[in-house]
Amino acid sequence: MKILSVNAGSSSLKFKLYEMPEEKGLISGVFEKIGLEDSFYTIKYENEKIKKEVPLKDHEVAFKILIDELVENGVIDSLDDIKGIGHRIVQGGSYFDQSVLVDDSVISKIDELSLLAPLHNPAAIVGIRAAQSVIKNAKHVTVFDTAFHQTMPEENYLYALPYELYEEYGIRRYGAHGTSHKYVSLKMNEILGRYNTKLITCHIGNGASISAIIDGKCVNTSMGLTPNAGLIMGTRCGDIDASIIPYIMEKKKLTPKDVDKLINKESGLYGISGVSSDSRDIEEGIHKGNERCALAQKMFVKRIVDYIAKYYVEMQGCDAIVFTAGIGENSTSTRREILDSLKVLGIEIDDEKNNTRGEEICITKSSSKIPVYVIPTDEELMIARDTYNIIER
Ligand code: AMP
Repeated sequence: MKILSVNAGSSSLKFKLYEMPEEKGLISGVFEKIGLEDSFYTIKYENEKIKKEVPLKDHEVAFKILIDELVENGVIDSLDDIKGIGHRIVQGGSYFDQSVLVDDSVISKIDELSLLAPLHNPAAIVGIRAAQSVIKNAKHVTVFDTAFHQTMPEENYLYALPYELYEEYGIRRYGAHGTSHKYVSLKMNEILGRYNTKLITCHIGNGASISAIIDGKCVNTSMGLTPNAGLIMGTRCGDIDASIIPYIMEKKKLTPKDVDKLINKESGLYGISGVSSDSRDIEEGIHKGNERCALAQKMFVKRIVDYIAKYYVEMQGCDAIVFTAGIGENSTSTRREILDSLKVLGIEIDDEKNNTRGEEICITKSSSKIPVYVIPTDEELMIARDTYNIIER
């Protein structure tokens, strides 16, 4: 059965087609600058990458071209070969603790939650509508980034604000990257060969979050109402003293929009280093002796260590730690710096094994009290899996 995994942004559309249940990736690609003048798409198929510059008026046009490409490349015979489409949704609020089949009430709830994810939820609805109008006979499933975190206990998801803000406006921690944390934790449990485990999963990319997972269920996660909580990220500040916000708004005469930009786009690694939000540039800066890059990296690592330590204590132990996403999978120096700070937990890094990028591997010595793994994440596959399982059910 062919299942299409889709991630629609306001001007982009990423996709990957799978043969399920074999979980075989057949073709993938991305449509970019949809609705803009210089739109184009790239497709990866059988180790080849094709790029075509074409007008993409809207997401519906992108889906039509996608189907044509799939037929032309012989990946499908007709539209009807695609039995299911899984759509990634960033914010599912408290409504969704698992993936669901799309109907009008699902769409209206995603729409209602747009206030919490203004850049993402409306774009996802556009993607669903466009896919429904082009691929009519397929079943559509929504997969929520927040769903995996819905098992958190109240004391971990509530903020110490007036309780009415939670009741009236749903102000609470929802977390994000749930699809990734779920994928790597399932994989970790498979490797350990048991499911009654305590895991700390670190999704460290441009966006970054850490989760504490007991017996496959998330008990805590570092992102909050929005993704701007917890860790220091490429351009996001993560945890800060909340009163800084009204203070700088007053001092610098900033509007809510201005301050939102400041904490989401101008902070984090970029804000501290003044150089870049990209960890490769930060590493290069450090090699060249840039002190602000060194400071940014030190703060970045320290915050990750803080969260791992916090979750270790919260779960009263940990059976394995997992690193994933761009930095977690590739930055050998960041992993080493983090694990060096965790020696007190009996963690012993194996430098030779750590000297690998982008592959599944245990990077600690056999004598390490807690094994630490790198597990490349695969959110598209997780979306395809959920979609397949729901359709089969
Ligand atoms: P993501 O958001 O998961 O795509 O991750 C993006 C981040 O991963 C960026 O900060 C990149 O600099 C970082 N990254 C990707 N490859 C490497 C690498 N080889 N070494 C260090 N950082 C990397």
